[in-house]
Amino acid sequence: MSTVPDRVVVVGSSVGGVRTAQGLRAAGFGGSVVVVGAESEQPYDKPPLSKQLLSGEWSVADISLAPPGELADADIELRLGVAAGGVDVRDRQLSLVDGTTLDYDALVVATGVRPRTLAAPRSVPLHTVRDLADVGSLRRALDSGGGLVVVGGGFIGAEVASTAAGLGVPTSIVEALPTPFSRVLGDEVGAHLAGIHAEHGVEVISGTGVVALRRGPSGLSEVELGDGRVLSVAAVTVGIGCVPNTEWLAGSGIPVDDGVVTDEFSRVSGVPDVYAIGDVARWYDVRTGTSRRVEHWTHAFQQAQLVAHNIVHPDDLQAHERAPYFWSDQHGIKIQMVGRRGPGDSTEIVWCDGPDGQRPVALYAAGERFTGGVTFGAPKISVRLRRAWEDGARAADVRALIADLGATQPART
Ligand SMILES: Cc1cc2nc3c(=O)[nH]c(=O)nc-3n(C[C@H](O)[C@H](O)[C@H](O)COP(=O)(O)OP(=O)(O)OC[C@H]3O[C@@H](n4cnc5c(N)ncnc54)[C@H](O)[C@@H]3O)c2cc1C
Repeated sequence: MSTVPDRVVVVGSSVGGVRTAQGLRAAGFGGSVVVVGAESEQPYDKPPLSKQLLSGEWSVADISLAPPGELADADIELRLGVAAGGVDVRDRQLSLVDGTTLDYDALVVATGVRPRTLAAPRSVPLHTVRDLADVGSLRRALDSGGGLVVVGGGFIGAEVASTAAGLGVPTSIVEALPTPFSRVLGDEVGAHLAGIHAEHGVEVISGTGVVALRRGPSGLSEVELGDGRVLSVAAVTVGIGCVPNTEWLAGSGIPVDDGVVTDEFSRVSGVPDVYAIGDVARWYDVRTGTSRRVEHWTHAFQQAQLVAHNIVHPDDLQAHERAPYFWSDQHGIKIQMVGRRGPGDSTEIVWCDGPDGQRPVALYAAGERFTGGVTFGAPKISVRLRRAWEDGARAADVRALIADLGATQPART
């Protein structure tokens, strides 16, 4: 019979960390819970940063992860504005950068990721969007009226482009691949999304990269592209991927390989009583037999709930086996992806009736195995796709399901 710890320390005060702490209480944990967070703000959610917060539609209060007092009422202690600087796994002690230490019986690492950026002269400010301060400085740059270039065709950059275009800012996306968004969605679906951006006035430039960044004579930033074009804008946002926040674990013995390496139960491999979840974790996916990191909100949320259960019920360990899922809001359309598109997967587009015309549902398959799907403004279909993925449905069954739900044209491959 394994023992339940007395004191759990969680590092990271965003969705993964906060939902772990709350999950421990929900699972009946009566010991002490401390959440350490490098950011000094009360815990907030990140998906709205590139959407409703950047647009000004929502305020900081709207993106809070817990109403005032809720965490204190649950006897969850917050240590905010101080980063963890190291951990001694033998003595079970966490060191904070202010020189203090915290003893733990179980440690949960939920330190997320930070954006990659490009090398640029100091006179060219490059924006990324990961925290509240980033949104403030980007919004000020957009308000100056001089246009925006988003470098990289990732989803956060695409949301920034969508929000900026909605604010009336002349906006371009530059993507080195021939088809934007194709890395995740494939060529056909990626081209469809690029078309939505173009319809909403975003200039989508693909198949060429940024070769130089400099400050132009007018004071604007100049983005020189491989095809010779030069874009002069007030703001440049970089969306070229992220790196996990693991440097603070150097020398601790916690295995790091593009993320903290865990088993299927989110337990750090070979280090007792240390767990890792969310964007920072490279977790073992029993469904695919591979280890990988996932940077999606739902994944962090579900792993938080699961790790809380596994800490409180060490004799009833549960593996994370839910369908991969993320959403993105662009130009008023909710894009939802279930599962994953493997390199050799086929893509089939089925057109369904929507309130304002036809909308595509993309289905991916490896042979007869349904591997994933993408919907545009069709949340009910997305729910059914998630269920089908988790049930291990065959591609033919999913096709029939979509037909039942309102496909109006024969599928085309
Ligand atoms: C702008 C934006 C938009 C997004 N939109 C979507 C979306 O539409 N759909 C979707 O599925 N996902 C979206 N995501 C991704 C989603 O928000 C993340 O998957 C989720 O936030 C991951 O949660 P996490 O707790 O693992 O890590 P994070 O949210 O990255 O939080 C990690 C926290 O740990 C803190 N930290 C780092 N190092 C230390 C340290 N040494 N000590 C203490 N604290 C530390 C960080 O400051 C941070 O607060 C978006 C992300 C961003 C940034």
